[in-house]
Amino acid sequence: MEGSIKQLVVIGGGAAGFFCAVNAARLHPHLKVILLEKSSKVLSKVKVSGGGRCNVTHHCDSISEMVKKYPRGGNFVKKAFHHFFTKDTIEWFRERGVELKTEADNRMFPVTDSSQTIIDCLIAELNRYEVELWMNTDIKEIIVEEGDKMETGASTKMGDDIKSEAKTRFQLKAADGKVFEADAVCVACGGFPKTSMFNWLQQLGHSIEEPVPSLFTFNMPGNPIADLMGVSVPDAQVRITGSKLVSSGPLLITHWGMSGPAILKLSAWGARELAEKNYKFSAMVNWLPAFNENSLRDELQSLRFELAAQKIGHRNPFQLPQRLWDYLLRQSDINADLRWADLPSKEQNKLIKNLCAQEHAVNGKTTFKEEFVTAGGIRLSEVDASTMQSKLVPGLYFAGEILDVDGITGGFNFQNAWTSGFIAAQLK
Ligand SMILES: Cc1cc2nc3c(=O)[nH]c(=O)nc-3n(C[C@H](O)[C@H](O)[C@H](O)COP(=O)(O)OP(=O)(O)OC[C@H]3O[C@@H](n4cnc5c(N)ncnc54)[C@H](O)[C@@H]3O)c2cc1C
Repeated sequence: MEGSIKQLVVIGGGAAGFFCAVNAARLHPHLKVILLEKSSKVLSKVKVSGGGRCNVTHHCDSISEMVKKYPRGGNFVKKAFHHFFTKDTIEWFRERGVELKTEADNRMFPVTDSSQTIIDCLIAELNRYEVELWMNTDIKEIIVEEGDKMETGASTKMGDDIKSEAKTRFQLKAADGKVFEADAVCVACGGFPKTSMFNWLQQLGHSIEEPVPSLFTFNMPGNPIADLMGVSVPDAQVRITGSKLVSSGPLLITHWGMSGPAILKLSAWGARELAEKNYKFSAMVNWLPAFNENSLRDELQSLRFELAAQKIGHRNPFQLPQRLWDYLLRQSDINADLRWADLPSKEQNKLIKNLCAQEHAVNGKTTFKEEFVTAGGIRLSEVDASTMQSKLVPGLYFAGEILDVDGITGGFNFQNAWTSGFIAAQLK
């Protein structure tokens, strides 16, 4: 493609669109690059991301490990990561004066702890390579012109830079009537919540995987566990009853139900399945994932012996938060003043069940404000992962969340935006 392209139009001023636009302008000095943004702000998600700190990427230097964090699009990003990976992101920002640091959970942030650092860097690149930015420009339609049917040097509203021999391949129509012409287009519009919002891309022949939310927390209306709001455990296992979905990690009890990495991972891996259940299902929590019901029974037998004279409520043997332990005893009809030696087997069985397999009815979800993504988007079999070019329309590229790629929390979604934006910028 590259040689015949004089003008690239990138649709969407988010992470992927910026990365594509600034890299394309830098890599192809004679290319005119135009970036179109429908709203009055660019990089708005970067700004609010990671609680205002921007979790730019994840500290991971193994592609095979990294791809395990993408519930959809793992195989696609695997190919793409061979072209631009986490170390390239780190290096790209470092070369432009932005140092990233790694936190204990391997999430990477700018050392300034401010997403503005990332925004300033991308805007500086935009200005340095003279990318033309149009705000409040909402593209509604892309018309593909057959190159050989076009008159060469067709006059355009913005076409002064197009050489007379150039053949315009695309016309982009904005909501306000403006028309942009381009030899190549990169669509980097982020995720849309409804399939109908992809109509203008379906008109180009592309198929859409139905969008559903990912990364949400579970609502448990009327569940007494909500009284423990703010309690968290460092490692719990959560299983969705009647499915293969299971995940473990930190779990946080909120005033509306449950959140934390264990829940968010489940919401991502189960995004489609849980949408089909209309977010009504049962979540089974094992508060002590080192045990199952049988091994815990054995453990309790020895604890009853070891702690015989001590009161169950005062002696919490598993280092669970005391409020959670009190709640689990109440749920098991155990008086906190009971001595371990006097624990009847019926109540012991209830305690085992509540510790290892406690069922919670989920009814509804709440979007996780820290890092929300949409699963679904442009079908990946129709896009070449090593160029990001459409297999259906030459000269049409895609980058970022518009693709049917989404990761769990931890910087994986931005890495997809940087990788796909960078690859699209090669215009191969
Ligand atoms: C609150 C929040 C926090 C997050 N935190 C993190 C994090 O810390 N780490 C991480 O990895 N991920 C995070 N994510 C996810 C991450 O922000 C997204 O995956 C990423 O921004 C996707 O980038 P994108 O450029 O593809 O899309 P977007 O950032 O959504 O940008 C798309 C842009 O296109 C514009 N647009 C849409 N349609 C049109 C049109 N027709 N014409 C013109 N312009 C259009 C939109 O206005 C938007 O500006 C977070 C998400 C949210 C919501």
